[in-house]
Amino acid sequence: MTPTIAKIFWIACVVGWWAIRFPYERRVKKNAIKATQRDTQEIVLLGISLSGLGIIPIIYVLTGFTFGARAFVPAVAWIGVLPALGSLWLFWRTHRDLGRNWSVSLEVRDKHELITGGVYRYVRHPMYSAFFLWAIAQFLLLPNWVAGLSGIIGFGTLYAFRVGREERLMLEAFGDEYRTYMKRTARVLPWIH
Ligand code: SAH
Repeated sequence: MTPTIAKIFWIACVVGWWAIRFPYERRVKKNAIKATQRDTQEIVLLGISLSGLGIIPIIYVLTGFTFGARAFVPAVAWIGVLPALGSLWLFWRTHRDLGRNWSVSLEVRDKHELITGGVYRYVRHPMYSAFFLWAIAQFLLLPNWVAGLSGIIGFGTLYAFRVGREERLMLEAFGDEYRTYMKRTARVLPWIH
């Protein structure tokens, strides 16, 4: 593994990431929104997350800025391949399981169904688990402290401010059904309740 191969692999995964998401973005447009909490806070958080997971590392990969450089250790980059592939798989599974109920923000759709099967049997936020895995892969693959850590910080910020609101929205929409589901699932790590 060389720094260039690690960067090319990272870009290939970014392309894979969008290839998984794009068809759902088109499909969910047909499922109208009943309630939304997409406010200024949400838009700012989405911007922070997009910067950390996308804009900053893309600028790094394209320009190779040296600010924050760290030594490239091939074994570390090889280890990064695992969370990268794992996150792509989980990202694909969560889109397949959520289907028409997915939203980029906090939304309840018409005919919104509560999904508790598939990977949602084990954790309530498996898509966020996929984003954390992805952020870890970014850190291991890109030999730069700024571009490496921006994903964990950016997505971590979105997660920290969003997950409680999302669960309150789900409780409003699904009541006891979601309360029961919460009791038997963890948030992002299957074994941490
Ligand atoms: N937090 C989830 C979903 C992310 S997508 C995950 O990490 O997998 C965000 C949207 O998914 C929210 O607007 C919410 O309405 C919806 N959502 C979250 N959990 C859901 C569930 N179990 N079933 C159906 N929709 C859900």
